[in-house]
Amino acid sequence: MHALYSKEFEVLQEEIGYRFKDPKILLQALTHKSYAGEHGLKSYETLEFLGDALINLFVVDLLTSEFPHTSEGELAMMKSYFVSEEYLCRLAEELSMDQLILLSGRRRNGHVSASILADTFEALWAAIYIDCGRSVDTVKSLFNKLYRYKIVNSVKEKEYKKDYKTLLQEETQRRWKERPTYRVVSVEGPHHDRLFEVECSIREFRASAKGRSKKSAQQMAAKRVLELILSSEN
Ligand code: MN
Repeated sequence: MHALYSKEFEVLQEEIGYRFKDPKILLQALTHKSYAGEHGLKSYETLEFLGDALINLFVVDLLTSEFPHTSEGELAMMKSYFVSEEYLCRLAEELSMDQLILLSGRRRNGHVSASILADTFEALWAAIYIDCGRSVDTVKSLFNKLYRYKIVNSVKEKEYKKDYKTLLQEETQRRWKERPTYRVVSVEGPHHDRLFEVECSIREFRASAKGRSKKSAQQMAAKRVLELILSSEN
């Protein structure tokens, strides 16, 4: 358990501004099941499950308080970006969590996948939550201190709108472990003035859009399908 006392563990706690009373729970948040099995340790799965819910709450709380006049549909788009694997993976990298994750020897070839990084980032927040005595307020203010400004800025920069194809794929992978498909429905106009119509579909969700390039038509179609999926919950 030397990892508990390593310099990197110290640095992580300094960066998040929280010192663990029970560092073992921090260790658990960083332990992949491949390593846990070999070393008789607990892995991060349950923490990830709880952390996922906490981060969802913090992000929605932050977005609705910062942007009270934004429509629910737009808020759902923002949220799906800020809780996405891609985004959480980036936050994990900023904390150098990739250096700390415990994977089994066979799998540890220097590279940690984005999904494991995002998962451990979620687990980290559940670990803090449990360690501090399950105080949502404590963890929420820590989260806000670290990320509120950053997220608000990203919203203002419209960063969350950049790539609907990626957003959609993450959403469908997460929900159903499936990817959407794209199909060119029609191509109109002369060569120098083409107009593409692309249809995007996954499960019962289907939408099409037109664009001057296949790519832009795909992006718009992906946006529409994502909106359909996100609004189907209510
Ligand atoms: Mn996860």
